[in-house]
Amino acid sequence: MTTSSAEPIIGRLAVIGLGLIGGSFAKGMRESGLCREVVGCDRDPATLRQAVPLGVVDFITDDLASAVQGADLIMLAVPVLAMEQVLGQLAQLELGQAVITDAGSTKNVVVDAVRGAFGYLLPQFVPGHPIAGSERSGVEAADALLFRNHKVILTPLAETSEAALTLVRRSWRALGADVEDMPLADHDEVLAATSHLPHLLAFSLVDTLASRSENLEIFRYAAGGFRDFTRIAASDPVMWRDVFLANRDAVLRSLDNFTHDLSRLRAAVEDGDANALLGVFTRARSAREHFSKILARRAYMEPMQTQSINFIANPGASVQGRIRVPGDKSISHRSIMLGSIAEGVTEVEGFLEGEDSLATLQAFRDMGVVIEGPHHGRVTIQGVGLHGLQAPPGPIYVGNSGTSMRLLAGLLAGQNFTTELTGDASLSKRPMGRVANPLREMGASIDTAAEGRPPLLINGAQSQLKGMDYVMPMASAQVKSCLLLAGLYAEGKTSVTEPAPTRDHTERMLRGFGYPVQVKGATATVESGHKLTGGKIDVPADISSAAFFMVAASIAEGSDLTLEHVGINPTRIGVINILRAMGGDITLSNEREVGGEPVADIRVRYAGLKGIEIPLDQVPLAIDEFPALFIAAACAEGRTVLRGAEELRVKESDRIQVMADGLQLLGIKAEPTPDGIIIDGGVMGSATVDSHMDHRIAMSFAIASLRATGEIRITDCIHVATSFPGFLDLARSVGINIRQEDNA
Ligand code: NAP
Repeated sequence: MTTSSAEPIIGRLAVIGLGLIGGSFAKGMRESGLCREVVGCDRDPATLRQAVPLGVVDFITDDLASAVQGADLIMLAVPVLAMEQVLGQLAQLELGQAVITDAGSTKNVVVDAVRGAFGYLLPQFVPGHPIAGSERSGVEAADALLFRNHKVILTPLAETSEAALTLVRRSWRALGADVEDMPLADHDEVLAATSHLPHLLAFSLVDTLASRSENLEIFRYAAGGFRDFTRIAASDPVMWRDVFLANRDAVLRSLDNFTHDLSRLRAAVEDGDANALLGVFTRARSAREHFSKILARRAYMEPMQTQSINFIANPGASVQGRIRVPGDKSISHRSIMLGSIAEGVTEVEGFLEGEDSLATLQAFRDMGVVIEGPHHGRVTIQGVGLHGLQAPPGPIYVGNSGTSMRLLAGLLAGQNFTTELTGDASLSKRPMGRVANPLREMGASIDTAAEGRPPLLINGAQSQLKGMDYVMPMASAQVKSCLLLAGLYAEGKTSVTEPAPTRDHTERMLRGFGYPVQVKGATATVESGHKLTGGKIDVPADISSAAFFMVAASIAEGSDLTLEHVGINPTRIGVINILRAMGGDITLSNEREVGGEPVADIRVRYAGLKGIEIPLDQVPLAIDEFPALFIAAACAEGRTVLRGAEELRVKESDRIQVMADGLQLLGIKAEPTPDGIIIDGGVMGSATVDSHMDHRIAMSFAIASLRATGEIRITDCIHVATSFPGFLDLARSVGINIRQEDNA
């Protein structure tokens, strides 16, 4: 909140309706020092008596004309259906340049009332709605701190003047509120669902229980759950009557959806349908836990800011210990996808609880699959079979996850419903044509935004998929997997031939689920007409996450680090091969096979690395590990040359350019080429490097600090938690000197 020493920018503030909201606004503004005087107008005799002694206003009157005379700002805080009458009276008065705003809980009626009263929309009118309140009402409930850290939604109109908007924003901010703009058209819909419907349910539930006399006993035993859920039934009846009358249509839409879903739940209880109940409850619980995070980035209010996270890494000593990095991301994604379309139950262990794989999990929940967990990496999936997915209630949002979007595209092309796949701002810039085009060749109906970018509208019902032989122009496991998944639904055989080996987790896991996959040389083939059977999946630790620590131990003198239970799928071990070729000291032990996937413990000791020409055949096997390998190259003696890696330019960032920029800032000679990079090993200094929101870039520069001579500050690291939950703690536990920068 502001201090009372603020310069007054408002001569007179007139607040009409001195209840909870108007009283709190008046009191807060009065204490903020932004107004020379605050005048209240109310019709309630008790309010007229109490407002001045309570310190809410300087003067109080029941006469609107005298309240607004000479006012610079007029706040309307009467119940929404009383707005029309108050505005009608205001229109008869001389208001000068006074800015008018309101606090009404619904916005369309207030805007209509302004138009009705004045005959047009006043430029000095700013519709507003504080998302704060309490069950208390009346002036005695006025609280100067009521809006602190609460949102206030403004719905400025095309006619609204910038000066009026600025004044209203500034006033709410002076009360500590977090002000956001929202289109008028969205406001009443969003609030109908998030505020009005819950209030209706609370009023209704309490009334239902109270009106059955034998149930009065219930209130005596009502524990926290009932109290929490029905707290809002103590809200002001008049205000809420007005809200429901004013926002009739939007509330009815929300109520109809709810009634529909409630009757499904009723049927599930009646029929003893445990799966349906578990489905709703697990979806709701996870929505409560994870969706808020995911949604925060979708920003239902457009200007919502994502908090920026920066890392500070300082020169460290050696890297020591035994650690297990989180589960493999690729295998985690596929375990949910294949478990969902399998018949029977699939139990997953070691699931990576990062936002990307959680996005995949949520997508299948949206399509009606009952998925329990994740709880400490355990997930239980009640498979629905190849043809059991249901149309999701709305677009499927996959956040930042390219894997989810590309693999799902193939699977969804084979369903008999339409789906829209959307992602966050960064994913929305990435190319999807490489999956959309071959899927179209198979007969899929897919619309994309310009240049093949998301969102993808996949019209499964209109797609008659036919198998094909596809020769990929560029090696990509995501494209291959996408087409093989579509192939499960296509007529005949679908074959994908890759120009260079890529990850084969999909093929391995399909086989693990009992689905036949033929692999001959560089060609993988599936045929429709078979089925997947659920089972157990133990997800190995992710070699891509282990790679950062493998490089860390290789470059920091005296290091000796063991990484446990790491997946060493032959299509993923490029990082081991390349580090060994550079002179790295890496030994594998305890090699075994878990659910079709080979795993091992990997011991890495410091070794003086040497620059090499990276063999072309290793490039696809290490594609995600190059940012980390570039750090190894920067610490190696001599020159390292990478070619044939143009795909790096269309990852979460242009990884060639972004790494080159960062390395150069640290004093390393790093020259980007169209399909690779040339790095001359040298001494790394100190710099601030921009990770461009790319988690692997951020983690690579984090380990670079082991060999830097000064501090490395890495900006925009928010997505690290996505692929590697707990990275900072694990890095610190082995001796890397890194922390998150305090936010100013
Ligand atoms: P409240 O506590 O009931 O206060 C409303 C006050 O306005 C009462 O003192 C009322 O007097 C007075 N009033 C009614 N018609 C009037 C008129 N024509 N001229 C002068 N005074 C008049 O209501 P509130 O909770 O503060 O709500 C005020 C506004 O804020 C409403 O539009 C509501 O939708 C909105 N809002 C409320 C909340 C919340 O949680 N409470 C949250 C956000 C927005 P009487 O008692 O004599 O009618």
